[in-house]
Amino acid sequence: MSGADFGILFYDLPARSIQREHLFALSTNSSDVQDHLEDITGFQTLITDQVIRLTTRQELTKYNSKIFGDGNAARSEGWIVQSFMSVPITSKSGETIGCLMLGHGQEGIFTKEAEEMVLGVVSQATVALDNAMLFEKLVSANEEKERLLEKATEQNFRKDEFLSIASHELKTPVTSMKGYLQILEKQVSKEGNGGYLPLIQKANKQVNKVIHLVNDLLNLSKLEAGKLQYNFSDFKISEVLADCIANIKNAEYKHNIRVFGDQNSVIRGDRNRIEQVIINLIDNAIKYSPDATEVLIGLSEDRGYFKLEVRDFGPGIPEEKLQLIFERYYRGEENSYKTSGLGLGLYISGEIIKRHQGRMGVESEQGKGSTFWFVIPLDQDPE
Ligand code: ADP
Repeated sequence: MSGADFGILFYDLPARSIQREHLFALSTNSSDVQDHLEDITGFQTLITDQVIRLTTRQELTKYNSKIFGDGNAARSEGWIVQSFMSVPITSKSGETIGCLMLGHGQEGIFTKEAEEMVLGVVSQATVALDNAMLFEKLVSANEEKERLLEKATEQNFRKDEFLSIASHELKTPVTSMKGYLQILEKQVSKEGNGGYLPLIQKANKQVNKVIHLVNDLLNLSKLEAGKLQYNFSDFKISEVLADCIANIKNAEYKHNIRVFGDQNSVIRGDRNRIEQVIINLIDNAIKYSPDATEVLIGLSEDRGYFKLEVRDFGPGIPEEKLQLIFERYYRGEENSYKTSGLGLGLYISGEIIKRHQGRMGVESEQGKGSTFWFVIPLDQDPE
């Protein structure tokens, strides 16, 4: 349409390229131009942010050395560019992202009208190129996002695998250590070497803590892998609670645990898992209220649901932390250096209760204490 012998479009690689080289597309029917293809790439040194239109040999001569440089093959061997037009392509951001160049072997080819027409075409091309670059950027950002996601999933998988192996590996030696310590404790109490007894009991206490942590890790990795086994049966809550309290009584603490309410509820669920949840709640109530002397346990039934509440008289939990504490690995910073724990107990308990089609929650008042509770349906379908 412009009457050119050839048209070259130079454009930048999208910004993700480290080296912003100009690519080019050439359109021509002229065999002269085709004979000089190699030189055409050299035209990229001519890219400016100005429109240039040369129509006569004189103008060309003036610009010749500036534009075509010395030794330009396009004007040797019988073929010479005599009409030339260069229109920069400027992106929305004002950056020159390319250039359209037209050339012809004859003078006077590119009129003012031709320039306007080319400017129109270029402004449309700019929109298209801008969009293409935007699209490229979007695609590459998405690709990067997917790559990172894949990497994170892979790392997460490895972490889970590591946790699973580490907790399994720790469990056996720690459990046998506990066994040996118990034998030793019995032996020492029987034979009367009383001086060692408190030391053995302290060691026992520490081993219990390690077992508790290892169990949390083990439960977490089983939970994540969907391998936490549940065996549903009907059982009396009073029996489970008695076991829980007996279990906790083995540990050293000064709190008085008092039970209120209806102890006759029979619930359907996994007895060991429910016991694990209750122990976790009572353990926390004791652990996080070191200056208090009481923990209250409330039992009730309401509209087909069984409810268990554990109330402590500790410092309570700030409002903004109430949701966070049920998250995996969350530990209240005010406690983390004083108490042992991995921030897994409430998360695991919450998941166990969910598996029983129930809900878990907390109410807390700062300075007064907290009440953790769960409800599960009395009559539920185990699946
Ligand atoms: P851990 O006890 O190992 O930190 P949990 O998941 O059982 O893990 O508890 C998460 C966090 O919730 C604790 O670090 C603590 O900050 C807070 N928390 C739990 N129970 C209580 C409680 N009874 N009183 C005050 N804070 C509590």
